[in-house]
Amino acid sequence: MSIFNDTKVAFQDKTNQQLQKAYLMFRAIEQPAITNIGISALNFTVKNNFPFVQSIVRQTLFEQFVGGETREKSMQVVKQLFKHHIGSIFDYAIEGKEEESTFDHTCKEIKENIKFAEGSPAIPFVVFKPTGFGRLDLYAEVQSGKELTSSEKEEWARIVKRYEEVCQMANDRNVKLMVDAEETWIQSAVDDLVNEMMARYNREKPIIWNTIQMYRTGRLEYLAEDLNRAKNGGYFLGYKFVRGAYMEKERARAQEMGYPDPIQPNKQASDNNYNAAIDFVINNLDKVSAFFGTHNEKSTELVMDKMKAHGLPNDYEKIHFGQLYGMSDNITYYLGDKKYNAVKYLPYGPVKDVVPYLTRRARENTSVAGQTGRELGLIKKELNRRKREGKI
Ligand SMILES: Cc1cc2nc3c(=O)[nH]c(=O)nc-3n(C[C@H](O)[C@H](O)[C@H](O)COP(=O)(O)OP(=O)(O)OC[C@H]3O[C@@H](n4cnc5c(N)ncnc54)[C@H](O)[C@@H]3O)c2cc1C
Repeated sequence: MSIFNDTKVAFQDKTNQQLQKAYLMFRAIEQPAITNIGISALNFTVKNNFPFVQSIVRQTLFEQFVGGETREKSMQVVKQLFKHHIGSIFDYAIEGKEEESTFDHTCKEIKENIKFAEGSPAIPFVVFKPTGFGRLDLYAEVQSGKELTSSEKEEWARIVKRYEEVCQMANDRNVKLMVDAEETWIQSAVDDLVNEMMARYNREKPIIWNTIQMYRTGRLEYLAEDLNRAKNGGYFLGYKFVRGAYMEKERARAQEMGYPDPIQPNKQASDNNYNAAIDFVINNLDKVSAFFGTHNEKSTELVMDKMKAHGLPNDYEKIHFGQLYGMSDNITYYLGDKKYNAVKYLPYGPVKDVVPYLTRRARENTSVAGQTGRELGLIKKELNRRKREGKI
């Protein structure tokens, strides 16, 4: 039986009403047809400012998956989580906008997050998405090695400047800064930038962190190369390890364009690769710090077992675990309870602007086999427990 089965611990912060609502919502998300119709309707109505719909979203998806409309309004959630030894990472959840003014605004927002996180153990990292700072197509062009036009060169220079500014600030304020991973056709351009920042700022400890998607082929080899570079260059490495969120898109593009599929052939191969990354970390702790961003119970338990086998304390500073707010509370609260470095990604933003994030979450929940069923099973178990104990 899983060690992550204690729903009393997992849902201690949820009222009966919140749990009942979450149950109905995951039931709806479980149906791809409903999800797809719902997503289209939601995107249309929210874009067109239907206040009634915004209010429904606020009370359902938003309440389940988002900390609040602003950083400040999310602090209540941050404080509550921290009572259970769970840190928060503010995730500025505005996606899909590609104007320069939005990129500048996002950069400013990340800087505010860095200021906010300074000296706060409740907010152990700040994060940003590469496409929050620049256009996907431009990253892709840079990666392909194509000659940029002079205006594209200027645009790229602005992206680099955004990275430099936030990394410099994170370093000045001693705040760990993590960069999310996205599509393979831009990731090498991102990796190059992040590596440059790691070489510059991780001289004494990992301030700048990259994300490695283990559903990709060739990532173990990449890690070995990175480690060599860091050893030769005399700096430290910080990595978030995830399986990867863009599998369908990656496979479709590879097929359409006729290049080898960059994703592992099946789920087991991705799992094996992820678990190999755990060994890579454990064997290189003198250089590498890790954040395991996963909802997979087996991988989480494997990290815990290896930590124990190596005599590392639960709150060992070089190892963190992370789940998304609103999901896998059974893992996060268990880890927090046992004093591991447990963290939630906590999205925030105005209701209208976080809808693309929320709908992506809903889609992912239908495509990640078992995730929704798992959430439903746990919620049901807790509701039954409360009924049995006369608490409902
Ligand atoms: C804190 C946190 C941060 C994250 N940040 C990022 C990020 O920066 N970039 C990013 O891309 N994702 C990110 N993710 C999402 C992550 O990549 C996964 O999509 C998600 O967590 C599901 O994987 P899992 O390990 O939790 O669970 P599991 O349910 O064990 O694994 C599901 C995953 O396995 C892989 N998989 C499923 N079927 C197959 C198959 N047939 N063949 C090969 N592989 C398969 C896919 O990656 C799928 O998402 C993040 C997740 C968390 C919790």
